[in-house]
Amino acid sequence: MIRFTYEVENEGSLPFLDVRVHRQSDGRMETQVYRKHTHTDKYLDFTSHHSTQHKTSVLRTLFTRSARCSTTEEARREEDQHVSQALSKNGYPRRFVKASQRQFRTRGGGAASCSRRSQGDQGQQGERERSSEVRKRPYVCIPYVQGVSEQVTRILKPYAKISTKPGANLRDRVVRAKDRLGKKSKAGVVYQYQCQGGKIYVGETGRTLGTREMDHRRAISKGNENHSGISKHVLETGHEIAWDEVRIVCYESNWHKRKIKEGYYISKIPKGKCMNVLPGWQVPDVYKVLE
Ligand SMILES: [Zn+2]
Repeated sequence: MIRFTYEVENEGSLPFLDVRVHRQSDGRMETQVYRKHTHTDKYLDFTSHHSTQHKTSVLRTLFTRSARCSTTEEARREEDQHVSQALSKNGYPRRFVKASQRQFRTRGGGAASCSRRSQGDQGQQGERERSSEVRKRPYVCIPYVQGVSEQVTRILKPYAKISTKPGANLRDRVVRAKDRLGKKSKAGVVYQYQCQGGKIYVGETGRTLGTREMDHRRAISKGNENHSGISKHVLETGHEIAWDEVRIVCYESNWHKRKIKEGYYISKIPKGKCMNVLPGWQVPDVYKVLE
């Protein structure tokens, strides 16, 4: 069932999406940035361990929105002032804020961006050429480490488009927001089974471990040797698999990364103990020094 709700305007003004719309006496609509009363004005703190790019993008988002959502100069100035105060509470130095405010007003601001869009075909072609140039350089994402990432980015700039992502922080390590689920309801894992003879099978799944276990058991009960190393081994030897003793080797939701990890853990199984028929993805030898 779909429920519709509606809101009535209050003193000629009504919040709509991200803007507050004011109805003027002559029928015109004017808009300004709207935020809920419960908004905390909490943004990425300036002292937190993030790249300057990320902090700059906080400013760009706020000032660009201010310019684009305000139809009058007064509304924009009011919004800019509010944003500047909020940023200063989040530790942003005044000079840093002022500089980017000027930059994004001229580059990203409403009227300015409209006139740029209307420059016509020539502008578009230039844009296309530039973007194909960018496409030639591979895109690389590295963890952010203050002082190191900036230098690495500078050195690699001619060869790759570098962006940084925040590394693991204390909160990631300590806080578990979700309830602990049983092993079998975990999804996106590399897992390991063992048989009564001590042989090991490593596999991966993007679905839950329980669902993947059903696949393996079904293949065995149907006598399908080609399904996986597990079914082959069990059907050949009659060995039991300790299904409930399954070990989760690691969590990885990204398919590509999970395949690499699976291949890595298969290669770590001691010689003669491996149930896997296929070796999985192989990592080039150059990475082996990282172990
Ligand atoms: Zn066995």
